[in-house]
Parts: sequence; structure tokens; C-alpha cells
Amino acid sequence: MSRFKTFDEFLNLFPPKPCQRIKNGYNVLCPAHNDKTPSLSVTQNSNKMLIYCHAGCSEKAILQKLGLNESNLFLNNKVERQIITTYPYKDAEGNILFEVVRYKPKSFKQRRPDGRGGFIWNLEGVKPVLYHLPDILIAVRVGDTIYLTEGEKDADRLWSLGLTATTNPMGASKWKAQYTETLIGAKVILLPHTDAEGRKHALKVIEALEGKAASLSVIDLPETTKDISEWLDQGNNLETLEEYILTPLMYTPKYLSFNTTPEKIKQPETEPEWSLRQWDVVRQLQAEVRGWRQKHAEVLLAMDKLNAKIKLYETGDLI
Ligand SMILES: [Zn+2]
Repeated sequence: MSRFKTFDEFLNLFPPKPCQRIKNGYNVLCPAHNDKTPSLSVTQNSNKMLIYCHAGCSEKAILQKLGLNESNLFLNNKVERQIITTYPYKDAEGNILFEVVRYKPKSFKQRRPDGRGGFIWNLEGVKPVLYHLPDILIAVRVGDTIYLTEGEKDADRLWSLGLTATTNPMGASKWKAQYTETLIGAKVILLPHTDAEGRKHALKVIEALEGKAASLSVIDLPETTKDISEWLDQGNNLETLEEYILTPLMYTPKYLSFNTTPEKIKQPETEPEWSLRQWDVVRQLQAEVRGWRQKHAEVLLAMDKLNAKIKLYETGDLI
């Protein structure tokens, strides 16, 4: 068993003087012979302490005098896992179904109430739901825009700024049919992480929600930022967020390059000019949205106008 967390803790076993600094450690008085010089080298090599008596005492004899065994020479420098926060997931009535527990260093575990004030550390028999489900159900009913983030931290960050946000539990690529069901008729804006994994996830969610959500957009943040929390930490604010909104017509070609489901989504084989023109129109309309650039509510209104115009274009009533 390792007994020491740090090298200094181990050094405390020896008298502080006389003591001499050497490479990777110290010479201290040897406890196994009548030492005056000091002649015991105590050094550290990664997570192991090395002891060597220049007067010839054996390691065993020294350890015996110190009341230690050989395994005590290994440092126990494993960082202990700490609970940083818990994210409660509730059913439609507001009862806690399960919790996602976040640790430092970063890792996650799930647990469910045992009905006696404690928890069982698994999700057996639990049908997972979207984060903040009771609020999300209301938002769908009243037509509030719902931001769908990748992870609870981002969702809570947006709530703290007055937006309605949710996420699916267990991270990217864990989308389930019941989440789609919850979001039927909802106005959804996806806020995926900017890495390839995040975009793959976004594409899956887009596929699931297309034709089910009332409206669907993606905020495609620049790759210099990991997620919305980091982006806000970098001094950005919500008012500039709409610059990164992609409509379905725009995100599809870009997201296609990740090639997650080539058999399902194909570039149109005919009329490439048509798509190019379509692309231009979307860009132009998006520039219009940027032109408004006001409060968030107004941006959302602009998004609705934009989507309406795109519909007109698709049906040939525009241009
Ligand atoms: Zn010695």
C-alpha cells in the first residue's frame, strides 16, 4: 500500500538537519546506522522514492527502521475524483427520474433515486428524458425557441441567460426516439460542439427532427471555440449568435462532408446550378437577418421571416 501522497511527506520521516540537496532529492541521516554525515540518498523517480545508504545499509534494514515496507515507497498521487455538480432529470410531473453526476477530473455517472432518499448507481428501468423536461414541454406548447445543446453545462449556461435550453443525457450520439417525440412541433436551434463528433451528433439529430420540429436551425460556432460556454467565456454575447445560424438548406452540404449516413442524404445529382442559386439566395437572406442585428427576440422573428422566404423560394413563388 502506498502511504505517501507527496515526496515531501516522505522526507518528513527524516531529521530536517543535516540535509544536503542532490539531484532529484536529498542526502539525509540514515536511520539504520549511526550516521553523522548525512549518507542516505533519498530521491524521487516519477512516482517511486529511491533510498540508498552510502555506508552500505540495505534497503530492507532502512525500511525496517522507518516502519515501512517496499510498497510504501510508491507515491499515491492518483487525483481523487470529486463530485462537481449533479444534473437532475425530471419527468413531466417534475419528479426526479435520474441524475447525471459530474466529476473532476471530468467524467460522468448516472444514478436514480432508490425511493428512500438515497441513490442506485445505474439507470435500470429508467426511460431517459430530455433535460429540464417539464419546462421543455411548456416551451413546445407556447412556441418558445428551444436551444438544444450538447451537454447539461451548456444548457444550464443558456438558462442562466434567460433562454430555454435542453440536452439529451449521456452526450453525443445518444439520441433516442422519445426525445424526438418531445420536440414534435417545437422551434429548435441546435448548438452542437464544434468538433467532428459534435457535428455527427448534430446531423443525427437533424435527421431525427426534420419534418417533426416546427423549425430547425443549427448554430455553427467557429472552430476556434469548443462549445457555447467557451464561446461566451471568450467575451462573445448572445446578440452576435445569429451570425452563426445555419438554416437547413445551408448546413446540409457542410455536414454532409462528415459522411455519416451517405445512403440516406445525397447531394442532388441533377440541377447543380439550381442548388448553387439556392445557396446564394440563402446567403442573401441571411445577410438580411444580420442586418437586423438587434435583440435576440427580434432575431428569432427574423429567422421565422427567413424560413418563410425560403419556403416561398422552394415553392417557386420568389424569384
Ligand atoms: Zn546507513
